[in-house]
Amino acid sequence: MIKLDDLYFKPFISAEKIDAAVQKMADDIAADLGDEVPVFVGILNGSFMLVSDFVKKYPKPCEVTFIKLASYEGIKSSDDIQRLIGLTQDLTGRTVVILEDIIDSGKTLAEVHRIFKNENAKSLLIATLFFKPEAYKKDFKLHYVGIEIPDKFIVGYGLDYNNLGRDLPEIYQLKTTQHMTNLVLFGPPGAGKGTQANFLKEKYNLVHISTGDVFRFNIKNKTALGMLAKSFMDKGELVPDQVTIDMLEAEVEKNADAKGFIFDGFPRTNAQAEALDNLMKCKDSQINAMVALEVDDEVLVQRLLERGKTSGRADDADENIIRNRIKEYYNKTAILKNFYTAQDKYFGVDGVGSIEDITKRLNKVIDKL
Ligand code: AMP
Repeated sequence: MIKLDDLYFKPFISAEKIDAAVQKMADDIAADLGDEVPVFVGILNGSFMLVSDFVKKYPKPCEVTFIKLASYEGIKSSDDIQRLIGLTQDLTGRTVVILEDIIDSGKTLAEVHRIFKNENAKSLLIATLFFKPEAYKKDFKLHYVGIEIPDKFIVGYGLDYNNLGRDLPEIYQLKTTQHMTNLVLFGPPGAGKGTQANFLKEKYNLVHISTGDVFRFNIKNKTALGMLAKSFMDKGELVPDQVTIDMLEAEVEKNADAKGFIFDGFPRTNAQAEALDNLMKCKDSQINAMVALEVDDEVLVQRLLERGKTSGRADDADENIIRNRIKEYYNKTAILKNFYTAQDKYFGVDGVGSIEDITKRLNKVIDKL
């Protein structure tokens, strides 16, 4: 994902796919024109990258020139098309091929036809790399189309948003859903995830989802999910993946307008981490970071026994169950460090010290994301 000015864009068409489409356009046009030496006319600014790549691929002699038209403001097509640089070459009797980066409403194309009407060219052919059939409102024939795309705003490969993004070698599409910041708060039981999540959710305006809390809520209310989860939780074992994943997805869906989430106690297995990646992808988003509180085992046991005196949690009251939860963490959950490290998203934070100091350490990591 990239940010240009105030908007976010997601990858849409790769450089390889563009290259193949440009190659095909060059081959098709060369085959149709035979030995004729065409004049290719690029429409600036957007077509500069296409024209450059196209003529390198064109297998026969040709001429190249440009005209400069301005057709839109920001992300909306404007009615007012200005001719900023006109034709500087006599085209009488020549085969002219217009090279456009994109044709959407067709307003620019109407202006192109108006410009060439009095030039006495032998023929006027239109070639465009991208075409939005849903947006096209004119009847002019398009002789060569590289790639048809839906009616969404795109940038890259010569196309811009507020003059940014023309330099990108691939195409990005405007992301219409809200940008979210999604954090996985990680660490063994007793590391202080819940405490820190309360500070982070206020500061960054995020929704905090603790799977442990949701399970405990269900147990308290004696729901079917609660009854199922209880048998595992009482022993300090993990609740089965599919049960947990379904519950987590339901919690995320309940907060459709969230600016982002803090996932606390989830994911705990690779299957959960993959499910979370897919869920974020469906929301046009991603996990930005796993921030992990790192605390020594013996400190954890002492903290949890202390918490057990007041938390009322059965799994905090017994040292054997506590040690089993920590063991479960190392056996099943700690591997997730590798999962997020492989995506360059793992950030370890020292979880020993005062609550304020640890919050500051977390803020430092998150502010840099
Ligand atoms: P926690 O409050 O995060 O320490 O979780 C308490 C207990 O809830 C765990 O020991 C598990 O039995 C269960 N649990 C919480 N989150 C998950 C999860 N993501 N996957 C499986 N079990 C979980």
